[in-house]
Amino acid sequence: MADEVNPFLSLQEQIDNAAAHVDVDAGTVERLKHPERVLETNLAVELDDGTTEVFKAFRSQFNGVRGPYKGGVRYHPQVDRDEVAALSGWMAVKCAVVNIPYGGGKGGIRVDPDDYSTAELERLTRAFATEIAPLIGVDRDVPAPDVNTGQREMNWIKDTYETIERTTEPGVVTGKAIDSGGSQGRVEATGRSVALTAREAFDYLGMDLSGATVAVQGYGNVGSIAAGLLDDLGADVVAVSDSSGAAYDPEGLDPRAARATKDDTGDVVDHTERTLTNEQLLTLDVDLLVPAALENAIDETIARDVNASVIVEGANGPLTPAADDVFAERDVSVFPDVLANAGGVTVSYFEWVQNRQRFYWSEERVNDELETVVVDAFDELTAAYEEGDLPTLRVAAYVVAIRRIASAAQQSGTWP
Ligand code: GLU
Repeated sequence: MADEVNPFLSLQEQIDNAAAHVDVDAGTVERLKHPERVLETNLAVELDDGTTEVFKAFRSQFNGVRGPYKGGVRYHPQVDRDEVAALSGWMAVKCAVVNIPYGGGKGGIRVDPDDYSTAELERLTRAFATEIAPLIGVDRDVPAPDVNTGQREMNWIKDTYETIERTTEPGVVTGKAIDSGGSQGRVEATGRSVALTAREAFDYLGMDLSGATVAVQGYGNVGSIAAGLLDDLGADVVAVSDSSGAAYDPEGLDPRAARATKDDTGDVVDHTERTLTNEQLLTLDVDLLVPAALENAIDETIARDVNASVIVEGANGPLTPAADDVFAERDVSVFPDVLANAGGVTVSYFEWVQNRQRFYWSEERVNDELETVVVDAFDELTAAYEEGDLPTLRVAAYVVAIRRIASAAQQSGTWP
């Protein structure tokens, strides 16, 4: 893992690479290379043994010209200001790529949730929600799940906000449990867009997804759902990994059973006799590689050894910019995060719409509308790639996004 690559510098490089292909003034580009604001806060939380621990936390509001800031909150020991800022910028690009009316935001708490009890995590989440309460709101900034957070944390954030504001406003946060105002299909949505992107990608490249071999790095909510849906589409998922290593079966494994093993024992490696390291999984001779863990999973060195011909990014920022260059040189097709994992925020948008209307959709409607959004965005991105003769699909995605954000910014003018 290329820890030394600063994701915020990666974001700025990606914006610059694409801006060179867009008719946009330098001031607007500069604006797109920095968050509008980042809250840094120290959360003092009482632990179960009566002692107090202080946790560093952030909320970055990157760009709000297209709508409320939108993006998840992650709990991870690696969280820092630059990581959260980068992730918030990627959210602004992602929301513009799928053309949903949001800006970009992201938050995080520096913590390993495995080390704390449920009661401690609830106090920590409520402390965070209290700190960000003045910044968030259904029309201001709408948090959601990300790495190591889910419905439980979102329900706590909603309840804290509603208690402080003395109101009911479920759309202040998305990714909630169904009985707390969540949407059908939200839990599966990110993995679903990864699988839909893979389906469209293979079709676009004239390849057959049925019978294609697949390796998935990262077996949380994104990787495990994507693997199950790829299996449904006829692909052979041969390797899946988490931090314990990779389960491997060259004949193809059952992705849902692998997830059940991980839920059972904590480690996906327990699923098969044969196992691999994460690096072996990334360089396996497969048709499709899905990095679905954290940023910087594939650096320049690993990129040279990757054998897959197609990469669909489930995680945010799993390839360093130098790895991107290697893949462009080697003609490996990379379908970028800002398209492939946009299903999560897209169904968050559907959840927010349902919350505001107090009218709820069937799972079938959610999945149908999600498919329309992903397929339309895929077609727009590949059209921009071909028409502009652009170097990569990532550049194409950023070109589409920058055009939309810059146009809204220019129409709004500058204040004050
Ligand atoms: N954390 C997810 C992402 O990175 C979802 C964000 C959201 O739903 O707002 O796209």
